This record gives sequence, C-alpha cells and structure tokens, in this order.
Amino acid sequence: ARKYVVKRHFEGVPKRDDFEIVEYELPPIQNGEILVKAEWVSVDPYLRAYNKRFPVPYDQFSYQVGLVEDSKDPRFPVGTRVVSHKGWCDYSVMNANVSNSPADIIYKLPDLKGLSNSLGIGAVGMPGATAYFGLLEICQPKAGETVVVTGAAGAVGSLVGQIAKIKGCRVIGFAGSEDKVNWLEKDLGFDKAFNYKTVDVQKVLKEAAPKGIDCYFDNVGGEISSIIISQMNDFGRVAVCGSISSYNDDFTKLPKATILQIALVMKQLKIQGFLAPRWRDRWSEAFSDLSKWIKSGDLKTREHVTEGFDKLYDAFIGMLNGENIGKAVVKI
Ligand code: NDP
Repeated sequence: ARKYVVKRHFEGVPKRDDFEIVEYELPPIQNGEILVKAEWVSVDPYLRAYNKRFPVPYDQFSYQVGLVEDSKDPRFPVGTRVVSHKGWCDYSVMNANVSNSPADIIYKLPDLKGLSNSLGIGAVGMPGATAYFGLLEICQPKAGETVVVTGAAGAVGSLVGQIAKIKGCRVIGFAGSEDKVNWLEKDLGFDKAFNYKTVDVQKVLKEAAPKGIDCYFDNVGGEISSIIISQMNDFGRVAVCGSISSYNDDFTKLPKATILQIALVMKQLKIQGFLAPRWRDRWSEAFSDLSKWIKSGDLKTREHVTEGFDKLYDAFIGMLNGENIGKAVVKI
C-alpha cells in the first residue's frame, strides 16, 4: 500500500517535499477490520489549516470514498462503499469499532440514487453538511433576505449560495476569477457575483445589495470580510466557516483585522464560528435534502477532478491557489 506522510510542518505554502510517499505492507485483516481500496480522495483547505496541530510525521488525513475489498466486519461486507477519514492512501485497513479520534470516522456511503460516488466527499459529504448547517443553523436566512457568500465558487460556497436561493433569498457571491463569476450567475442562479480580485468590494456591494446584507457566510476571512460585515443590516448574522486567506500565515501572531466592534454593537450583529462535526449526528438530514435537491435539479454540483494517486499534492496546491471550480477531488 502507499500513503502520504507529512514529514515537516508547512511554512507558508506547503511544499512537495514536506510530504513523503511511503510504501508499506498491509497486515492481514483481523476480526472487526475491513480492507478498503480508495477510489476518491479529498483535498481540502483544513489540511493546510490543521497542519501544526499534529506532531510530525503524521499520515495525511482527509475524507475519502473507498470500496471494501475484504471484510471481517459483517456491517461492511465486501463490495460496500465507505466514507472514511483515512486520507491520502491507496489501500488501508480500518476498524469501525475503534473511534478515539476523527481519523477513525467510517460510515457507509449514503444512497446517492445513481449520482457519482465522489459526491460522498463533496456535496453529499462533509462540505455539503458544512454548507447546510452553517447556513441554516447559524445564519437562519429568511425568504427575501440578502445573503452574501465568499469563496462562492468552491465546494462549500457554491452550495451555500444555492441553498440560500432554494430558501428564497437574494444571493451575492465573491470568487476569484471571471470564469467562476460567470458560472455562479449563469449556471447556479446567483443574483450577482463578483471577482473580488478586480472590483471595489464596498462599491459593488452597495449597488448589488441596496437593502443591505442580512446574512454573511464567511469562507475567507481577511479584509473583504471586514468590508462585508460593515455593510450588514441590524440583527445580521455572520457564520464564520473558514479563513482561507490567512491559512498560509503564521497563526501564532495575532492577525490584523479592521476593528468591527462598533458595527457589531450598533447593528446588534451575531457572529459565530462553527465546525461541521458539531451536527455529525444530523449529517444524514443534510445528505437527504442535498441529494434530493441535486436529483430535482434545484442544486447543481461541479467537481474539479485530478486523476492519480501521484497527483494528490498537485491537486491540493491547485485548490489552495484557486484552480478549482466546485469541489476539488482526486480519482485514485
Ligand atoms: P474551496 O473549494 O472553496 O477551495 C478553496 C478556495 O479558496 C479556492 O478555490 C480559492 O478560490 C479560495 N482562496 C484561496 N486563497 C484565497 C484568498 N487568499 N482569499 C480568498 N479566497 C481564497 O474549499 P472548501 O469549499 O472546501 O472550503 C471553503 C472554506 O470553508 C475554507 O475556509 C475551509 O477551511 C472552510 N471549511 C470549514 C468547515 C467547517 O466545519 N467550519 C468545513 C469545510 C470547509 P478563489 O478563486 O475564489 O480565490
């Protein structure tokens, strides 16, 4: 079997030789264990953000969809597809009875009713649950309200905007290229989308949201978030999902941000960070709605597929650089 081991902590942009591909012999499976062949492996921003939480060397975790090829666990017979957090490996032995850490997540791929199994690490997986609960539980958007989302053409952001449309909101998205902006407006039905790299955010927002902003789903942090939050309506709600604009920075230093306290007080805003596993016992609710909406055509998904185990690093860096439209996945 092969796996990627992170042998050095990342400094700035992760480098190819921070990783090592290790070949090793898998032991025969024991009672309670399954042998899984990875088919779809995810590359996500949190792999960058979480790097210094773990002592090196560590096996590169992430979500993956795999096929059970040998089984000594009757709940997962041969031929079952499982979603796990085994990450960047081609084969692995798993044990669903051991659950001491997130690395041990194993569940059966939800019934995707003929949709691609890769959705299990995308719209009907962790990113889907993130968009669904982050928007509906934290922002609690009501029909007619204006929702702004950054990172709008990515895995989470593209779903957030579409779920907000399904709930009857006006939706404005920010993303990093003209192609992304076109996709959001022409294919996904965003009311307005802008390339944050080329527009004056404050100005375009005033025009695009003449009634102000009620909900902000923040995927990127940084200065753009300060500008958006300063234009929110009274009792606006901010779901802080991620802060990708600062993941390559040194976290130990206090990040510099515009002082927002006055806007928070005067407008009585609610701003809340969250992690999708908070609703882990309810993910199936999200998966059921999301797959239903995909089937009915109310929700469109797009994937940026890279092929090959050897290309995992390139796919990861490409995603951090914004090469992906929709969910970045690697087909093994
Ligand atoms: P995406 O599919 O959105 O891919 C990452 C995107 O980030 C890139 O395509 C790029 O798009 C954008 N980006 C990169 N650098 C910057 C920058 N400096 N400023 C602004 N945008 C940038 O990833 P996900 O949808 O998987 O994740 C989106 C966010 O949600 C991340 O912050 C992630 O950490 C967070 N997240 C949080 C979870 C939680 O439980 N709280 C769970 C899952 C994700 P562009 O071309 O638009 O710049």
